[in-house]
Amino acid sequence: MDLGLSRRVALVTGASRGIGAATARELAAAGASVVLTDILDAEGEALADKLRAAGQQAIYLHLDVADDGQWHDVVEAVVTRFGRLDILVNNAGIGTTPDVEAETLQGWNRLIAINQTGVWLGMKAVAPKMREVGGGSIINISSIFGAVGGFGASIAYHASKGAVRLMTKSAAIRYARQGIRVNSVHPGFIDTPMLDSVDADAEAAILAGTPMGRLGRPEEIGAVIAFLASDAASYMTGSEVYVDGGWTAR
Ligand code: NAD
Repeated sequence: MDLGLSRRVALVTGASRGIGAATARELAAAGASVVLTDILDAEGEALADKLRAAGQQAIYLHLDVADDGQWHDVVEAVVTRFGRLDILVNNAGIGTTPDVEAETLQGWNRLIAINQTGVWLGMKAVAPKMREVGGGSIINISSIFGAVGGFGASIAYHASKGAVRLMTKSAAIRYARQGIRVNSVHPGFIDTPMLDSVDADAEAAILAGTPMGRLGRPEEIGAVIAFLASDAASYMTGSEVYVDGGWTAR
């Protein structure tokens, strides 16, 4: 499918590796000018270099999504350089496993700052720029764990991803008449560095709970994000799209 993104400018957070990197590749391949952002600067620069070497439009900028000032500076830099901003993929995130009683206030606050506050700050920073060009598409990466309780652990992660799901719907309604669509994507278990710490027992439990019996690949999420970014999804807003090998169907 030609997604027709050739005049669009996209900003992807957490784009140095995993799902964010796969998303940057999909958007660039569909013709968008892609601004990769992350805190892993060497990896992000290397991926942007690779995309440019393949004839695609890509740059890398440092952006810690929990930092309001950095959001402001990066969005201004993008608009100065490209003249517009059409697509935001709020993908950056961290995962932790402590349950209700094991979680600490410090651990909770750090995760919420990145996974939850970071998504709000991103929408707040880009919406005025999208309005200036008559609309845009925001895709917020939640999780299956933003909708169901999983293994009864990861209390802060569930809190953040549930919040991303509902912030998406609130923003979708807020901007529906201004041409800005806002949707959430809910991956199941995807083979990225985020799962590196998963031991054999946990992986067996994951595969047992996934009807397709395998992990997802990052590009299987990136392709859905690119679709939501495009005009092919022009009547979708406030939607939650599950890409989970059937996990939430059970
Ligand atoms: P990953 O760890 O491979 O990549 C996450 C990226 O986010 C990294 O490049 C990291 O440097 C970046 N990041 C972390 N903190 C940041 C910060 N403060 N500011 C900017 N960037 C920051 O993980 P992934 O699996 O690719 O995860 C991407 C998103 O998908 C996350 O929001 C995650 O919660 C979500 N998700 C992943 C899975 C999975 O199974 N892998 C499942 C559901 C949802």
